[in-house]
Formats: sequence, structure tokens, C-alpha cells
Amino acid sequence: MLGEKQTEVIHKETDRPAVSLLIPFYNEEKQIETTLQTVVPIMDSLNLSYEIVCVDDGSSDNSWRLLSQYADEYPQVYALRLSRNFGKEAALSAGLAEVRGDAAITIDGDLQHDPRHIPQMVELWQEGYDVVEGIKSARNDGALSRFAANTFYKLFKFASGYNLKNASDYKLLDRKVIDAWNRLPEKETFYRALSAWLGFRRITFEFEVQERKSGKSKWSVFKLMRLGSNALTAFSSKPLQIINIVGWIFIFFFLILTVQTSVNYFQGHAVEGFTTVILLQLLTGGGIFLGLGVIGTYIDRIYNEVKQRPRYLISERKGREEND
Ligand code: UDP
Ligand code: MG
Repeated sequence: MLGEKQTEVIHKETDRPAVSLLIPFYNEEKQIETTLQTVVPIMDSLNLSYEIVCVDDGSSDNSWRLLSQYADEYPQVYALRLSRNFGKEAALSAGLAEVRGDAAITIDGDLQHDPRHIPQMVELWQEGYDVVEGIKSARNDGALSRFAANTFYKLFKFASGYNLKNASDYKLLDRKVIDAWNRLPEKETFYRALSAWLGFRRITFEFEVQERKSGKSKWSVFKLMRLGSNALTAFSSKPLQIINIVGWIFIFFFLILTVQTSVNYFQGHAVEGFTTVILLQLLTGGGIFLGLGVIGTYIDRIYNEVKQRPRYLISERKGREEND
């Protein structure tokens, strides 16, 4: 197996490269140059054929102009432009559909995923692992976002059974995993968990999340909440079951209170339960709305999947002969 891989590694210019580096960029004009100048020498040091696939996720700044310049200048750089901002998940999907390597490494465009780990990842792949995953050794985010992330991962583990604590999108996938990913029919993906769902031979390595050097995080609170809700509803129907359980609890109390109010009534002091009624109304009202909300979230998901719209649209490509 390994022998095969190594003979394949000697590629001609036009052939499939051994390793593809996939980088999504969204409004990263200040970062692109530094990032590419950092990763190119590291990729060169691998002594393998490689390509760098840059996905411009509908940036509104100069990112595309820069990326297409790099694609023109360097034969190993291939740039892809999405027709608008589809989000990092879609950008990764677009890239994974386009990479030609025997393996692909996904890495953030802001160098927070330290590229010095790439040689180690490639080595593990050559040892026969299909998925090499980066685990964050320390989150250097603020206390609040660390708390939010940890709470989400606890909830996610409870609901789906997958432990994604400290997981990241810094991963290497073997060709067979990439092909499996590309065959997944769902439109709304959660890379971190779906790639775990795929299985295959996996191994993890630890890395320290670097400071972002320029610009700021492209995630808004709203985008993060949407990703979180997508992730949960994609991997678990527990919230739906919980509504059921809550419903039964309400019915149980309802029965008890029926007995109590009836007794009160026959004893002749019926008005007393007024406070209880108000409280109960509030509680059931709240419960119903919450339940409807959860059902609504799942219907929203079904609706989005049923529409069968593509995960992304590509508007331009730069840097591969057949496309120029
Ligand atoms: N990104 C993207 N589309 C988006 C948001 C982000 O392609 O809608 C890219 C971004 O340019 C960066 C990577 O995804 O290369 C990680 O984004 P960011 O650093 O904003 O996320 P964080 O590090 O805060 O998780
Ligand atoms: Mg970042």
C-alpha cells in the first residue's frame, strides 16, 4: 500500500500532485501574501509534488485580485472564486471537490493553524493513516468565546455522541476520504463532525493555535450560532425527543394538579389556585413555543436539503491550463 503511494509520488507537471493544500480566504487581502509566502517553502521542503488550492469565498476586498495574480505567477497555485460569500463550510466543500492531490490538507488562511505541522501530517499519512486531525492544545480565544465553544461541544457530545472538544478544521484527508466527502449528498455541512462520521483510519496531533496577525475573525455571533444549530440538528434528533419528554412531564403534572384542584373545588376554596394557573399558563406557553422552535429548526433543515441547491457556486477559476 505504502509502496504504491510512494511510486505514485513522482508526478509530472500535468499529473495529479501528491498533496493539495486547501486554503479558504474571505476578505483576507492583508493576509494572503504572508500566508502564501509562509506555506510555499514548507510545501517545497516536502520533496513531493503539490498544489495550493485557494478558495476566495466571495471576498469584497482585493483578495481575488491577489489570488489570481499568485495563480498566474506560480504554477502550483490554483485559485477558485465563489460567486458570493457562502461561508467557510461551503468554501471547504468547493475546494475538496477541486483538489487533485492524493491527499488534501485543509488549513485556515490566517496562519492560526501553524503550517509547520504540515510535514508531520504528511509523514503520518505516508505511514498509512487516512485522516490526520489537528487538535488545539490551548485555545487562546477570549474567556467568553472559550466558554461558548466548550458549552457547545458538551451539548454536541451529549446530543450526538461525537467528542469534538478542541477539534479543528486543520486536517489531512486521503484521496479516498476526499472522494467519500464529495459523495455526501447534504447541502449544509459541518466539516469537523462529518469528517469524523466518515470514519477511516484516523490519528490526531496537537497544535497550538497561533494569534491572528492581521484582520479579525470572520465569524459573527449570528454565523456561529447558525453553524452550531446546523451541527446539532445534523447529528442528532435528541432535541426532538426532548420535546416529547417535556410534553410527558407536563401531562404528569397536569394529572396531579387536576386531582389537587378537584379536591380544592369540592372543599369549597377553588379561587386559591389562581397563581398556579398563571404560572402554568406561562410554563406551557413557553414550552410550546420552545418545542415549535425546535421543530421549526429541523423543518428549516429539511427545507434547505429538499431545495437541492448546490452548496456553492464557482464564478471563476485561475491557474489550471484547462480552465484558463
Ligand atoms: N472564511 C471563509 N469564509 C467565511 C469566513 C471565514 O472562507 O465566511 C475563512 C477565513 O478567511 C479564514 C478561515 O476561514 O481563512 C478561518 O476564519 P477565521 O479566522 O475568521 O475563523 P476563526 O479563526 O475565528 O475560527
Ligand atoms: Mg482564524
